[in-house]
Amino acid sequence: MNEEQIREEIIRYFKKSYELGFVNMFEGNLSARVGDRVLITPSQKNKEQVTPDMLSELSLEGEILSDTGSRPSSEYRMHLALYRLRPDIQAVVHVHSPFATAWALNGRAIRGDLAEVYMFFGGEIPVCGYGTPGTDQVFTDFGRYFVNEDKDTVLLANHGLVAGAGSVEQAFAKAEAAEKLAKILSIAQLTGKPHHLTEREKSALLAKYRASRR
Ligand SMILES: [Zn+2]
Repeated sequence: MNEEQIREEIIRYFKKSYELGFVNMFEGNLSARVGDRVLITPSQKNKEQVTPDMLSELSLEGEILSDTGSRPSSEYRMHLALYRLRPDIQAVVHVHSPFATAWALNGRAIRGDLAEVYMFFGGEIPVCGYGTPGTDQVFTDFGRYFVNEDKDTVLLANHGLVAGAGSVEQAFAKAEAAEKLAKILSIAQLTGKPHHLTEREKSALLAKYRASRR
């Protein structure tokens, strides 16, 4: 994929995050790594009107490399921190999708005996400690979860969700899957008493997860 296609993909999924109700008009942010640079969505732009040429271009250290007339997302330092920690991550998405954010507000990791939780998220989506949005506090726990625990998706306490992956499409898919799981688990707990998997069943699902990461 060339840079023009990556720019278009960022904008397409940024708009989709709004259309799906994962963010309001001015919330959320999405970025992709292109070589040693990062392209990130701008701050305070209406998602109906945002275009590929409005993306900010940054170095991994946070230097603004081109003047697009708009400021980079206020969470750009969080994106750069994740790219520096995980060389395999090529795209990062941050949303405030309602069900996942409700779990983040409760300080609860997204956890439950749905097969997908084990197969796609290695057993749970953990919660990073709270940090004031836009500050370095937001990503204090990133090393612990994204590196030590090898997670690709985390909740930000009292705030939202962050996912990283090898492409914009894959990062978005993780955020979308996390939101759907939080929704299903919330509904299941409201409508009955969820059934549990056995340790053996969970191990079989975790083996699939580990195989998919090799
Ligand atoms: Zn946010």
